[in-house]
Amino acid sequence: MPAPPCAVCHAARAALRRPRSGQALCGPCFCAAFEAEVLHTVLAGSLLPPGAVVAVGASGGKDSTVLAHVLRELAPRLGISLQLVAVDEGIGGYRDAALAAVRRQAARWELPLTVVAYADLFGGWTMDAVARSTAGSGRSRACCTFCGVLRRRALEEGARLVRATHIVTGHNADDMAETVLMNFLRGDTGRLARGGGLGSPGEGGALPRCRPLQLASQKEVVLYAHFRRLDYFSEECVYAPEAFRAHARDLLKSLEAARPSVVLDLVHSAEHLALAPTAQPPPPGACTRCGALASRSLCQACALLDGLDRGRPRLAIGKGRRGLDEGAPRARAQPPPAAVLPDF
Ligand code: SF4
Repeated sequence: MPAPPCAVCHAARAALRRPRSGQALCGPCFCAAFEAEVLHTVLAGSLLPPGAVVAVGASGGKDSTVLAHVLRELAPRLGISLQLVAVDEGIGGYRDAALAAVRRQAARWELPLTVVAYADLFGGWTMDAVARSTAGSGRSRACCTFCGVLRRRALEEGARLVRATHIVTGHNADDMAETVLMNFLRGDTGRLARGGGLGSPGEGGALPRCRPLQLASQKEVVLYAHFRRLDYFSEECVYAPEAFRAHARDLLKSLEAARPSVVLDLVHSAEHLALAPTAQPPPPGACTRCGALASRSLCQACALLDGLDRGRPRLAIGKGRRGLDEGAPRARAQPPPAAVLPDF
């Protein structure tokens, strides 16, 4: 049976059906609709004001590649300029290839690229070193927890280096729904309180962050990359299979089979969630070691590195929650942990 005509231009044959609406579109009309929706997200949320210097967190993967491409298309209309900022976590056999993809993108799109490395920022620590240091301890499953804290900090440092006024990341709706689900499953009310909305306004001197793809489904991000013939790196990080996120992803897939709208429903829930005052995170202050934004005496990155340097990582999940050894619940009477989980 021949494909139906495109529902927008009626000239070409449809090449896809949009996963959510079922609308049959040709490739060019789909890409135009996708870009218009991202533009609407940015404008409706006042995410990137005219004149903004925007640091795009570039990993070489599909999400950040699509984000950078779409923002480059929209930049003249938004009146913004772009800088690619990539983070080298020091993951042998993975990050080098991903960074090569980022370098190709920067050259092809003629965008400035800055690479910041964990090893330079964090006293020689790389993710491989962190993994070695925690191997066999039961904490090795938490590599992404360490990495999330350090990467958030590294991206902030990279953005400041290029004098950016805003940071954007490529999280899509599926990523956000997984994060909401993980935070619920962990009972991490602090993260739930901060996780809603399209971004954070940059409290306590941190740069404002936003996620312009937050309402786009993962399937459509992949379709956009396909129709725009984008060059991206698609291999999974060697530490990803150990992450708790993988369980949330599996659960979400099961839920989606029963309720197709569950991804957007979860994102919507997080945006409109109201927490009791006692569940709100403490007001931010300054880290006593590096001066970065912190809700305790040390920021998340310094607390983590402090624990690593002493040979006992102290990162944990919210007050009274499980620590890095996810198989060993902590007693509720223990003192508050040094830091909380990152938002991914
Ligand atoms: Fe870091 Fe985990 Fe992502 Fe690998 S999968 S880059 S360890 S956050």
